[in-house]
Amino acid sequence: MEDKLMLMIPGPTPVPEQALLDMAKHPIGHRSKDFEAILEEVTQNLKWLHQTKGDVLMLAASGTGAMEAGIINFLSPGDRVLVGSNGKFGDRWAEVAIAFGLNVEQITVEWGKPLDPEQFREKLAADTGKEIKAVILTHNETSTGIINDLETINKHVKAHGEALIIVDAVTSMGATNVPIDEWGLDVVASGSQKGYMIPPGLGFVSVSAKAWEAYKTAKLPRYYFDLGKYSKAAAKNSTPFTPPINLIIALQRTLKMMQAEGLDPIYKRHQRLMNATRAGVKALGLPLFAPDSCASPAITAVAPVQVEAEKVRSIMKKRFDIALAGGQNHLKGKIFRIGHLGFVSDRDVLTAISALEAALIELGVDSYTPGAGIAAAVAAINSKSD
Ligand SMILES: *Cc1c(COP(=O)(O)O)cnc(C)c1O
Repeated sequence: MEDKLMLMIPGPTPVPEQALLDMAKHPIGHRSKDFEAILEEVTQNLKWLHQTKGDVLMLAASGTGAMEAGIINFLSPGDRVLVGSNGKFGDRWAEVAIAFGLNVEQITVEWGKPLDPEQFREKLAADTGKEIKAVILTHNETSTGIINDLETINKHVKAHGEALIIVDAVTSMGATNVPIDEWGLDVVASGSQKGYMIPPGLGFVSVSAKAWEAYKTAKLPRYYFDLGKYSKAAAKNSTPFTPPINLIIALQRTLKMMQAEGLDPIYKRHQRLMNATRAGVKALGLPLFAPDSCASPAITAVAPVQVEAEKVRSIMKKRFDIALAGGQNHLKGKIFRIGHLGFVSDRDVLTAISALEAALIELGVDSYTPGAGIAAAVAAINSKSD
């Protein structure tokens, strides 16, 4: 059916109607007083969302641009860095770091398992010469639906004392607690089409005081993504280059919506959506790809055995206008992924689980009690445990 698509992929995520309407307006000048006032408010509210008093800078880029900015502003050619890799986005960090000539040591774990903080501790403890300049990792690994134990890994980085911690929080920011100042996270990258509830096009980078110190001596070339320019401009409620004005106006709206909901209720909602999705999928007899102990609050990966993942995805799309994501790299065709990030409510998950059962019926899979999926999802939503 036309205009009925329900996005349940892990980005882009659904956008509230008010934010869409804001974007439909004529752009205003980015050097105008009106826009200065918008930037001032957006900057303050971004700091609230990121739980930091430090800079949160906006770039005209997707999340990967924010990641690249997070590398080139704080490091120099040949710097030794540890990169955590347990999925597509961890691998991307390594690719960016290698592209810029860093000395990359990957801490790798099989896709579908969480990074092992102990491996980071050992490498950092052994580095008595303090050669490791940064530890770089993905918080929520979107490709596998795994959330890594950032808090513990960060403690080991802090014990090292020298290395910066550089984090991809693209699908954890706005879904779960990422207290930047409390944990002392140095560089945190994210992107607008995920938990921020607006379309793609804005990248965000938060920068700690310690990272700004490193910036002063960092020698990788930078121009458009030179964060010093953005920081200097932000202090005057301005931007160094023409920003995506309409996106920022939409962001003004969604940040207000997030403030009205509150950080804790937002995190609890994502926890509930995760619990309901996982309970529903399990009750339909489909194996979950990630263990409960490290399950992502933003995305649930499902690894069906009785039926082909791509067939499920195809019916969900054709019959029910629900877009699910497929697997990436070697997981292509092996898993499908249900996004529940950003502007997503209980109703959306109930709809997806019901449609999933209908899709299974169409594929001849009936090895569960009819209605088991929806019953389990409702029970999870009503559970008072959170
Ligand atoms: C979406 C995403 C990114 C950024 O991807 P872009 O396509 O560049 O926006 C980075 N890391 C993770 C974990 C993501 O989910």
